Amino acid sequence: MNHDDLRDWSKRAADWAHGYHATLRDKPVRAPLIPGAISRQLPPAPPEAAEPIEAIFADFDRIVPPGLTHWQHPRFFAYFPANAAPASMLAEQLANAIAAQGMIWQTSPAVTEVEQVMVDWLRQALGLPAGFTGTIHDSATTATLSAVLTMREAALDWAGNRDGLSGQPRLRIYASAETHSSVDKAVRVAGIGQENLVKVPTDMTLSMKPGALAGAIAADRAAGYLPAGVVLCAGGTSVGAFDRIADCIAVARAHGLPVHVDAAWAGSAMICPEFRDLWAGVEGAESIVFNPHKWLGAQFDCSVQFLANPAPQIRTLGLRPTYLQTAGREEVVNFNEWTVPLGRRFRALKLWFTLRAYGLEGLRARIRNHVTWSRELAAALAQIPGVRIVTGPALSLFTFALEDDAATEALLSRINDDGRVYLTQTRHQGAYVIRVQVGQFDCTRDDVMSVAEVVKDLI
Ligand code: PLP
Repeated sequence: MNHDDLRDWSKRAADWAHGYHATLRDKPVRAPLIPGAISRQLPPAPPEAAEPIEAIFADFDRIVPPGLTHWQHPRFFAYFPANAAPASMLAEQLANAIAAQGMIWQTSPAVTEVEQVMVDWLRQALGLPAGFTGTIHDSATTATLSAVLTMREAALDWAGNRDGLSGQPRLRIYASAETHSSVDKAVRVAGIGQENLVKVPTDMTLSMKPGALAGAIAADRAAGYLPAGVVLCAGGTSVGAFDRIADCIAVARAHGLPVHVDAAWAGSAMICPEFRDLWAGVEGAESIVFNPHKWLGAQFDCSVQFLANPAPQIRTLGLRPTYLQTAGREEVVNFNEWTVPLGRRFRALKLWFTLRAYGLEGLRARIRNHVTWSRELAAALAQIPGVRIVTGPALSLFTFALEDDAATEALLSRINDDGRVYLTQTRHQGAYVIRVQVGQFDCTRDDVMSVAEVVKDLI
């Protein structure tokens, strides 16, 4: 295959994509779960001889779609949708065509400079103060890992990077049990250890108790631990918990600890000023992550980390061997020094296209609709005999259950086997509950309200 063939096949792929998206509503959202059904259709060994693209494309069309859970299906209400607005898909096609690797400014100034401007556009869109700068990661997990590594090194005065962790004091990171498991992963990968992630108790509103945070830090200090930082959640994955950011930051500040705020899915809602009370005080954080690939429609993957001061993270993650230097250009930003991987894709391009093609007003309208429809749906479900709303809408996420765990789990299986909508589960205060998360870029009010119809049919 050469570039002339690529041009022709790209047109075929675009037609295929159009047909795929146009018919999504007719397809079951979740893939049928028969392990091995796809892999056994693939030859066990790679081909020795080249094959025609015609055959490869035909096999793709035959084998892959039946094994897909359709993330762009308008009735996808599971997890949080990884959206892909058409304008962002177009930008991804261009980024693929360019195939630039923007590890340092010199390896494509446009990649770095568009990223700088897009991070600043988003800072303004979310109402964050002018001092914040930032970078784009693949995922919130990587951003949180970067923040935790920085907490570790700042606490150790960068001795961990130099000498390793053995012989260092035991570090402590604080978060509530409502924060995402990416925080647990970060403390493991950072060598801090799961046992040193202190799960601070939450109050009735599911916010971390600031007093309990202060108590845990003081007790740890007295016991000889080295507190290193606090991770707060603004929109937990399970049921949408929000820590009281200002109060918790005040405690962290009083103890000299940096704060990272995980707003992976809910952060996008802050483009709507009326939701900003939910993370009031966030401007006091050292680091904030949110995923435009969730509610803003930028195609996966695209996770933005804002930093009040990038210097500690650059000191933690940045290396500049001779082969990565830009001759005579000390003033430029080399984003690999802000992140774990060296290589980086041109992710900012899809932000540029998406923000311009829909405008902040268009994006706000979607988010406001999702929040409104989520409330309407929760009210409709509450009318169905036997259905109990367990946690009310936190922005566009709520949970419901039947009389007991077994009945709830069985209902969820029936819903997802039925295929008209896709929902997932969590545990809340010990009980098995069904999550409904509205956030798919193309969903309509009818799509959202169809969940009530499906539940009525299957209960
Ligand atoms: N934090 C929260 C609150 C999330 O909801 C998620 C994923 O859904 C993550 C972190 C992890 O996101 P990512 O897949 O970008 O690593």
